[in-house]
Amino acid sequence: MKIKRIVAVPISPPPRQYYGRPHQTALGEFLNVDYGFVKIETDEGYFGVGEICTVFRPGGRLLCQQIDDYLAPVLLGEDPRRINYLVDAMDAVLPGAEPAKAAIDVALFDIVGKLLETPVYNLLGGMVRERVPLSHAVTYGSSEEMAGLATELTQEGFTTVKVKIGQGLEKDVDAVRAIRQAIGPSVKLRVDANMSWATTKEAIAAIRRLEEYNIEIVEQPLPRHAIDAMAELRRMTDQLIMADESVWTPMDAIECIKRSAVDVVSVYVAESGGLLKAARTFSICEAAGIPCLIGCMPGTGIDTAAQIHLGVAMNNLKFDSDSCGVRYFSEDCLVRPLKIEGGYSYPPEGVGLGIEVDESVLLRWQGTAQNNA
Ligand SMILES: [Mg+2]
Repeated sequence: MKIKRIVAVPISPPPRQYYGRPHQTALGEFLNVDYGFVKIETDEGYFGVGEICTVFRPGGRLLCQQIDDYLAPVLLGEDPRRINYLVDAMDAVLPGAEPAKAAIDVALFDIVGKLLETPVYNLLGGMVRERVPLSHAVTYGSSEEMAGLATELTQEGFTTVKVKIGQGLEKDVDAVRAIRQAIGPSVKLRVDANMSWATTKEAIAAIRRLEEYNIEIVEQPLPRHAIDAMAELRRMTDQLIMADESVWTPMDAIECIKRSAVDVVSVYVAESGGLLKAARTFSICEAAGIPCLIGCMPGTGIDTAAQIHLGVAMNNLKFDSDSCGVRYFSEDCLVRPLKIEGGYSYPPEGVGLGIEVDESVLLRWQGTAQNNA
């Protein structure tokens, strides 16, 4: 079997609004969505799909171009079952561009699953759990708005809320206090600074104010490359420190572990460069005694499905995961919506990713992508 054709098109799925406004974190407002859809076709009629899912730059339009210019030429004519080989081949011609490589890796897994008539999670070692326990973000707003959203989430069944902080210390403390009062003592509350504290001093001052509200995890307190500062912060507090933006690839995970900078690692399919490398990061962390969870950006059902397959297969998934990215859009592109209920995501039934994409929805999203320059 050979790869015959690779289609990569920019898409712009519509973000969901919260409190009548765009989703907002320390990374900014979630607007001008610049994602991509990838389809890989084989000469034997099998095809697979993947998503370029990234809130960072370069976005989908440039990454689709990089697929056409650099990645497609090394993939065309190759056997799609040779995922290890093809992942290396992509790295050899193009450094970085992980969200583009992830879209291709996921599409290859989809093809191989369909060919072998088995779900993708069986290609990742098989199920160790039947569903992925979830956390859900609480986007920036007033304390009342944020506490209201957190309450709705817990009523839906979420047992972990992830409070986006970085609105300024007093506002953050007010929000966390209001949310803790609203959700009660048993719901887990983690905070995600999205790199918004500049120094260990600033971070430790904030953590000391927040810790009375029983914080489960402090996610990405410092800038992406501030690994030594994260290690210093970790020595100064008993709070669990989680790397998110600091760990994209397996090499990033090694670096954070070597420098004793993390208690927990958030692993993304998109930022890892696909399922193969995400699973490697899980294994590296497992060997080092560092637990993981799955992190995600807003994503369509394609990226979300890939995460769920990973999540049910990884032994080292030890905390509630973000794998419900599809909820941060107001519309999805799957013919059969993913089952995300009561605070859990469930793997779709069927072979490969187990999903079917509605191409008419993609066509509409392509139309809007042009306007998001
Ligand atoms: Mg995060």
